[in-house]
Formats: sequence, C-alpha cells, structure tokens
Amino acid sequence: MITKIIHEEKIQKAKKYVEKGESFVIVTHVTPDGDAIGSALGLYHFLTAYGKDNVAVVVPNDFPQFYKWMPGHKEIVIHEKYPDFAEQLIRDADVIFCLDFNEPKRIERLAPAVVAAEGRRVMIDHHLNPADFCRVTMSYPEMSSTSEMVFRFICRMGMFDLINKDCAACIYTGMMTDTGSFTYNSNKPEIYTIISELIKKGIDKDLIYRKVNQVYSESRLRMMGYVLYEKMKVYPEQNAALITLSLEEMNRFHYVTGDTEGFVNLPLSIENVAFSVFIREDKDYVKISLRSVGDFPCNQFASRYFNGGGHKNASGGEFHGSLADAVAVFEEGLRVFNPNKTEDLNKHA
Ligand code: 5GP
Ligand code: MN
Repeated sequence: MITKIIHEEKIQKAKKYVEKGESFVIVTHVTPDGDAIGSALGLYHFLTAYGKDNVAVVVPNDFPQFYKWMPGHKEIVIHEKYPDFAEQLIRDADVIFCLDFNEPKRIERLAPAVVAAEGRRVMIDHHLNPADFCRVTMSYPEMSSTSEMVFRFICRMGMFDLINKDCAACIYTGMMTDTGSFTYNSNKPEIYTIISELIKKGIDKDLIYRKVNQVYSESRLRMMGYVLYEKMKVYPEQNAALITLSLEEMNRFHYVTGDTEGFVNLPLSIENVAFSVFIREDKDYVKISLRSVGDFPCNQFASRYFNGGGHKNASGGEFHGSLADAVAVFEEGLRVFNPNKTEDLNKHA
C-alpha cells in the first residue's frame, strides 16, 4: 500500500472528467524532458487502455532523440511543427491534462490556446507555486516526478490494472530521469515500492537506462571533453562552477537537441562544488541551467537573476542578451548569493 498523497476530492473530480470525457489532450512544458514525455505518454497509454480513443499528446517543441523509443512517441503532436492541428485538438478537447508545469508561461506559444480552451483543465505537477488556471490542481512539490504522480493518480482511481507495460515503461522513464537515475530527490521508500510494481508490469529497467543514457554520438562525448577541459570555470571561494557554450562552439561539435543534457551536473562531482551553472546560447536567447547539492536553493538564484525557477536542486531560466552579459549577471549574482553566503535575496532586490 502506498500513502494517499493526492487529496481525495481532487481524485474524484478528475476521475469524473476521465469517465465522462470523450476527447482528451495532454500538454506538457517547453523543451520536454524525460518526466514531461514520460508522464504525458504514461497517462496517454492509461486513457487508451481505459477505452478512450480520442487522446492526444501535444508538446510546444521537439524533444531529444533519446526519448524517441518510448511507446507512443510517434503520436506526439509538436505545436511548433503543426500549430493549427495542435490548437484545433486543444479547442476540441473535453479534458486537458497539464502535466509537469505550474504556470502557462512554461508552455510558451501553446499557452493562449490552452488558457482559452473550454475543456476542463487538470494540473498534475510537482513544481512550487502553481498558478490558478485549472479546475483541478494536483500540485505536490514533495513528489520526485510528475510521472510518479500519474502512477498514484491512476491507482487512486482504482485502475491499477489498466497500467500496461507501455504505460509502466513511460512512467518509469520519467521517475528515473527526474531523479538523475535515483541519485537525487530519491530517498522516499515509496519510490521503490512503485518501481517494484512497474517491474511486475514487465518493464526492463536496465534496458530503459541504456536507451536513455547510452545512445549518444561520438561528437557529444568530444564536446563534453572540450567543455570540461576548456570551458569550466571553478569558483572555489563560492563553492560554485560555471560552464558556457556558444552556438558556434556547439556547431563545431555537430550539436543536435539533447547533446548538452547532463553537462550541468558534471562540475558537481568536484569536492566542494555545491552549485553548478550551465549557460548556453540558443537561437534567440540564452538558456540557463542550474543545479545544486544540499541546501542551496538554486531556484531562488534562477528567479532572481534569470527570470526562471524550478526545484531547489534543479532549476532553469533564460536571459535575453549576449552570452558575455549573462556570465556577468551570473558572476554578480554569485558575489552576493552562493552556497557559502545564502543571504536573504530580498535584501538585494
Ligand atoms: P533544465 O536545466 O533541465 O532545463 O531544467 C531543470 C528544471 O528547471 C526543470 O525541470 C524546470 O523545473 C526548471 N526550469 C527550467 N527552465 C526554466 C525556466 O525558464 N523557467 C522556470 N520557471 N523554470 C525552469
Ligand atoms: Mn518533472
């Protein structure tokens, strides 16, 4: 038995939508990660197994190649590629599940369609501070992943039996990726009770690990070497490290989506580095990824300096300007707020 985390009235309300709805759309955040795709496809397989034949997954933009083995991935509609079709699906949906994001801003260009839709919106998410835009808001930041919440949601509706192998594989993938393969946010015993149930559904967890983590190109590994040798700056006084990459550098290594995945975690293997930031140039903005170990809240750094947010130990943000200016903002921020000096950020607002 696993603990009842999600409030009963939320389960019952969402269950009614599931029972009565005919057309469903599942949306998730921009630059979808393993938990976004895993939770969305997990729910997709459940609804399909339940007998719903009008279920779609819509994502704002493309997702990495190493998730393109997941059962159902070919059915995912990418808004950036098919905006009219995606928006029509959203307009026509009786129920819209909003997974792994807490505010419309996180779905970027998909936001107007989702917010204007007449269908009932249900949020299932584990980020702090959920915005009020859904009829049912299941928001539990203590959960390791949205995928774990999808598992709990299905079980609480009394439909555990409808979790098939495909559904289980997607849920497992999300749980695995959002915990760095169970190396952070993963001390709750019930996570392993759930994994045990997923294995009983027939998944091969070792194979899933390999499919996600060991399918990279030679050039990505060389780019990683370049990053570590030439591009990593360590700030010993502040227990911090920074990695930067320009578009030109990424092109030199034949960058494809997902190639820089995990780079931000690398400096955390240095003793005394408790805060790592990766600043990377994108087409029309600069993307910031932040990670910490221990108590340092990198999401506060992200929101104060890079208009972002996320979890205490894993967050992100963006910067509109040059790479050099983003680095200057980071270094200025680091001066006043670092694992060695966690003053109240408001003092510096
Ligand atoms: P990543 O570094 O993998 O892109 O993002 C890590 C986490 O930070 C995500 O799971 C998400 O919670 C959060 N995050 C990433 N980018 C942003 C952003 O631009 N804004 C906010 N609010 N959160 C972000
Ligand atoms: Mn997540």
